[in-house]
Amino acid sequence: MNFNLAVVAGDGIGPEVMAQNILVLNEVGKKFGHTFKYTEVKGGGCAIDEFGEPLPQHTIDVCKASDSVLLGAVGGWQWDTLPGNMRPERALLGLRGALGLFANLRPATLHDALKDACPLKPELVKDGVDIMVVRELTGGMYFGEKGRKQTDMGEAAFDVEQYSVKEVDRIARVAFDIAMKRSKHVTNVDKQNVLESSRLWRSVVLEVAKDYPEVTLDHLYVDNASMQLIMRPTTFDVIVTGNIFGDILSDEASQMTGSIGMLPSASLGEGSLGMYEPVHGSAPDIAGKDIANPIATILSGAMMLKYSFGLLDEAKVIEDAVTKVLNDGYRTGDIMSEGMKQVGCKEMGKLVIERL
Ligand code: NAD
Repeated sequence: MNFNLAVVAGDGIGPEVMAQNILVLNEVGKKFGHTFKYTEVKGGGCAIDEFGEPLPQHTIDVCKASDSVLLGAVGGWQWDTLPGNMRPERALLGLRGALGLFANLRPATLHDALKDACPLKPELVKDGVDIMVVRELTGGMYFGEKGRKQTDMGEAAFDVEQYSVKEVDRIARVAFDIAMKRSKHVTNVDKQNVLESSRLWRSVVLEVAKDYPEVTLDHLYVDNASMQLIMRPTTFDVIVTGNIFGDILSDEASQMTGSIGMLPSASLGEGSLGMYEPVHGSAPDIAGKDIANPIATILSGAMMLKYSFGLLDEAKVIEDAVTKVLNDGYRTGDIMSEGMKQVGCKEMGKLVIERL
């Protein structure tokens, strides 16, 4: 198969980790008979420098016309004093909006070889952590009506939490579809004992569940979910939740994996086009030194193969190669521990490729 990919490498370590992602994808392509054609476009700080704006229309057009988008990271101290709508991070929000990406997938996987880096007690994670948080990305109070008003208590501010049936239906279907490819277990997280928006949310999730009789569905209030994640992390499979709850819970879950340099993510819309990026930022403190961990970005490439193109075997080959590199004792600085062999960004990419 042939795939046209838009590449927004971005700033800081973005281009360094993206280079390794592309090398890995090319090698997988060779092995399985796929061709990846890359169109590099600017987004973030580098686009501000070259075009005077973080997300040029040309970048949006190329991304829209592609089969999928690979993103590195954006941002850096050079652009920190610019006004909000001109900051590099606008490129992320702008792309998500322009591409209609409403589902954010954040896997939290604890590799056996990195168990020591997990802050939880060993007995809590001995059965392995493999959680997929599916967060609604374009609704809820982050995008609801907001404003200020005068009240008896003085000036007040509000952000409205609102979800429509359609918005919940489509995110729930993403979660159930993913669960069907995993352990067939969805945990819905809401606050339906208090919030009307959560009551609608839960009723729609229950309705969608009828189309997935093989999937086990359970429900947790968000406050309880935050406790259960710490107490019994190994019992979760897919978590589906709204924008603000997902923002918080996905960060909580990610801490179990040891390092931000290991975490990939995906943003999906109605079609197969998605945007795949590491969770970490542009890490200006280590940029240009060839020491960044490329694994998060390489694993986001694997997510693209799985979720946009349905290439499950190809994705697994990448995931397994990463596991082998870790089992063989190779580490970048961020995940280094005693007795392991420290390598740089390029070397880590090469070691993964050797094990594909
Ligand atoms: P960051 O994720 O860039 O870095 C946090 C810490 O983690 C740093 O010490 C960094 O060296 C380390 N780190 C991050 N990724 C690493 C990797 N792959 N390998 C090894 N170490 C790694 O977060 P920050 O410092 O808060 O932000 C830096 C810039 O990135 C800011 O301009 C911020 O706005 C931007 N940012 C962008 C994104 C994105 O593009 N999605 C996300 C978060 C932050």
